[in-house]
This record gives sequence, C-alpha cells and structure tokens, in this order.
Amino acid sequence: MKIIDHRLHQDDGTPYPFVETPNHGEKLSPEFLVMHYTAMHEAKKAVDWLVNPAAQASAHLVIGRDGSITQLVPFDTIAWHAGRSSWDGRTGLNRYSIGIELDNAGRLTRQGAKWCSWIGREVAEDQVVQAVHKNDRELAGWEAFSEPLLQVALEVSLLLFQTYKLKDVIGHDDIAPQRKQDPGPAFPMHSFRARMLGRAEEHPVVHEVTTTLNIRSGPGTSNPTVPGSPLPPGTKVEILSKQGEWRRVDVLQPVNGQADLQGWVHQRYLKRID
Ligand SMILES: [Zn+2]
Repeated sequence: MKIIDHRLHQDDGTPYPFVETPNHGEKLSPEFLVMHYTAMHEAKKAVDWLVNPAAQASAHLVIGRDGSITQLVPFDTIAWHAGRSSWDGRTGLNRYSIGIELDNAGRLTRQGAKWCSWIGREVAEDQVVQAVHKNDRELAGWEAFSEPLLQVALEVSLLLFQTYKLKDVIGHDDIAPQRKQDPGPAFPMHSFRARMLGRAEEHPVVHEVTTTLNIRSGPGTSNPTVPGSPLPPGTKVEILSKQGEWRRVDVLQPVNGQADLQGWVHQRYLKRID
C-alpha cells in the first residue's frame, strides 16, 4: 500500500474505499498515532456511525476483522477520535494525531457461562483474552483481535510512521486514561510499538534503576505498587511511555520472582546506560 495526496491506495494505485464524514476539523500535521477499538461487532456499523453527524466522532481509518480498510478522513485533516486527552505535553490530541479504529468488541462481562459485549452479544470463549487493564485492577474479558486485522494494522501503521515521521504510537487509554479503555490489554501494544519505533532507534534505550524503587500500576504515588515491587538498584528497564515525570517501563529481568513485569516509576531514579 501507499499514500497519495493523504489517501491510502493499494500498490497498483487503486484507492481504498473512502467514505466522507462531516465529523472532522481543519489542517493536521500529525505527530502521533492513536489506536482505538470500535466496541462493536462489525466494521460497517462503525463506519455508518462515524459518518453520522450525530456521532460528533470519526477516525482516519477503520480496519475490519477481515483486514478491510475504510478511510474516512484524509491524513492531513483533523479527525475527531481522541476527545479530551493529553500526552507528552500536548492536550487535545485530535490536533496532533492520526486515529485508527479497530473492529473489536472490547471489554466483555461474564453473564452466566457466557462472555458478552456491552450490547449483550456473546463472544465465543476461544476469542476471549482475560486480563487486567493497565489502568484498572479488576480481571475482565476482552475480545481477541483477529489476525488479518493485526497484520493490516501493522502494515498501514508502518507506512504512516514513515510517511509522516510520527514520534510514537499510543492507545486512547494512554491519552484519556480516566475515560477510555481502548485498545486495551488484548491489543499487542508493546510489540506493535517496538515495530514502529524500531526503524527510528537501532536498539532500545536501556535505563538502570539507581535506588530501591517502587513500581506502580499508574503514574503517581497514589497508585498501588504492582506485585514484584520494589525494584532493586541496578534493575534494567526499557521505557514504554511517559506521562509528566512518570515512565511506564518494561522490566528486562525477573524481579522478586516476577517475570514480564511492567509498571510506572518516577523518572528521577532512572539512569540511561549506553
Ligand atoms: Zn477510542
């Protein structure tokens, strides 16, 4: 695929379906990519909603479970996907980001023996990922993202990163953590992000912890520590994202019996090692 005049085309020059929406702003110079899920069961329904003036919402792209792509807003125009949001010193991320909606039902609840989406539709057990959202404490079900959708999302995101020299890819749940849970824990944000940034950085920047350091479930000392906390001095971590003085890190070694530990630490106690 390729981008011509801020619209997505196939390699042979055929444009992807473009459905115009009134729900957009003016000129955009994107710096970030923001990932969402639709909280629906069909991409077409999401497209229908996002082109309805009543929605007051849109996105640049909607990617279906089958990997189909629909573009609603050109990439040089503001789409309305982020709402009240902040990241990396910016507020109102619509003005700084491209938004992609992924066809996925999102958070699920147990109803008897079944997992159901918020509209009450059942999701088969083998399509359910059980996980605690990083901004939450409670174990919940999440619909797994389909493989064709993830493949296409990766391909189009890499193209957007290259074309617009984007700085980072983040979730709606990163920029509006009080309000939003998408794309949620079923989306492989860590590896996805590594692929996006891999082209910009030859190798991940590793930091070392300089003291015995609490690692928390959110940015700020009011958030509880996570199992495995505190990190001993000398623990090596990789920074995944940031909010003010806080950094969400991936701990690169098992600590206190916990492997694959992730959480938030204060940046003051991190020292970059080259
Ligand atoms: Zn969203």
